[in-house]
Amino acid sequence: MSEKAGKVTMEKLVSLCQRRGFVFPSSDIYGGLSGCWDYGPAGIELKRNVKEAWWRSIVQERDDVVGIDSSILMNPRVWEASGHVAGFSDPLVECKNCHLRWRADQLTENKCPACGGELTEPRQFNLMFKTFIGPVEEAAATVYLRPETAQGIFVNFMNIVNTSRKRLPFGVAQIGKSFRNEITTGNFIFRSREFEQMEMEFFVKPGTDGQWLDYWVQERFNWYVKLGIKKENLRRREHGQEELAHYARGCFDIEYLFPMGWSELEGIANRCDFDLKQHMTHSGKSLEYYDDETKEHYLPYIIEPSAGVDRSVLAILCDAYDEETVNDELRVVFHFHPDLAPVKVAVLPLSRKENLAALAKDVYGALRPCFATQYDDTQAIGRRYRRQDELGTPYCVTIDFASLEDNMATIRERDSMNQIRVPIPALKDTLLAKLAGEDLFILPEGGKIWKQEK
Ligand code: ATP
Repeated sequence: MSEKAGKVTMEKLVSLCQRRGFVFPSSDIYGGLSGCWDYGPAGIELKRNVKEAWWRSIVQERDDVVGIDSSILMNPRVWEASGHVAGFSDPLVECKNCHLRWRADQLTENKCPACGGELTEPRQFNLMFKTFIGPVEEAAATVYLRPETAQGIFVNFMNIVNTSRKRLPFGVAQIGKSFRNEITTGNFIFRSREFEQMEMEFFVKPGTDGQWLDYWVQERFNWYVKLGIKKENLRRREHGQEELAHYARGCFDIEYLFPMGWSELEGIANRCDFDLKQHMTHSGKSLEYYDDETKEHYLPYIIEPSAGVDRSVLAILCDAYDEETVNDELRVVFHFHPDLAPVKVAVLPLSRKENLAALAKDVYGALRPCFATQYDDTQAIGRRYRRQDELGTPYCVTIDFASLEDNMATIRERDSMNQIRVPIPALKDTLLAKLAGEDLFILPEGGKIWKQEK
């Protein structure tokens, strides 16, 4: 019946994402803006689900991490202390012929990749976007769009210690927009100029930092696996000594096998006490922690898992994408984990006839408070199934003329394409159980849920 077709490529993904409302180029009608993307109705749900899954695992399900939402614009001295004003730059070379600029560290040959022209010597280029506070565009009013969310956590360290009653070890988590004037954007939403990060700073007693680094590398790796990303497409890569920032004592990347090759999804670094020390020196405020047990004052060390929302979304899209030939027709489907799927259930009346529509609307009304549900009564049923497959909807509920007689509906599963008949009053519980990963089927007579015999 079905056989595997082609592999995922970035071209296929970009075009499907646009066709199904996942991601559009920013300011599309004006020709777009390089390095910026908009998330459409399906994309925003997927992205929200990714962020919620992260928040649930990092904050909600733990008692040693709290959240924060700091502002994007910060006192410019923050970026002097953090080293971003002086050091957040990539050496660039420019082609003397076509004037395109390239990151020196990404070139394999000493000539322009676009035209083969001669290149200039590398020059520094700051990656932070500048803007001005107030009406006068002068140096004193310069502020920056944050290039990472982490600094908002470091500068609030004392506020949190003083108000949350957290004792070491504990973490502070934040999800939010970051901006980088990247020289080379590309690979769809992998590298953009405006993106979202999910960062957590975990403050620990010096001496315990090594074991906490190992712990968080493992935790974060498992998180991607739990969300359904295939293990063989994930790997840990330890940074070599030459790659480490001067203050860091260890760093691992979690990488995903994207269509363009293995690339960073998330970095987990042991930042020692660098950040708190810098802010203490620059602000003149003590950021030392008082340890009630040992009666000592000291600066905690920090373990930082720093992930990109957009890169996670891209990895999830790549990993869930599948093509197969079913009865000589191409079926494209996203096998999203149910927690991530933008739409969980689609209600599809077989026809628009009044009595059928009324029953289908009732079913829709009963399900939508429980799940992200879509109602679709356009086109032939086969076309509607294909559309839901391309959105990655795990279950379709079909209401047909027999439903009017026997008060039953058909649940069609996205992955197996199997169909089962279920009493309408049992739909909600059956779908809830199935979405939670339980292998269930329904005995039509009593409408009772039974575990499937293995
Ligand atoms: P890269 O080497 O790919 O530029 P980085 O090492 O500079 O990344 P970090 O500063 O460690 O990245 O940022 C943490 C995470 O934020 C990255 O792992 C990535 O998921 C995300 N991220 C960083 N820059 C971008 C970007 N320009 N677009 C999308 N996501 C990004």
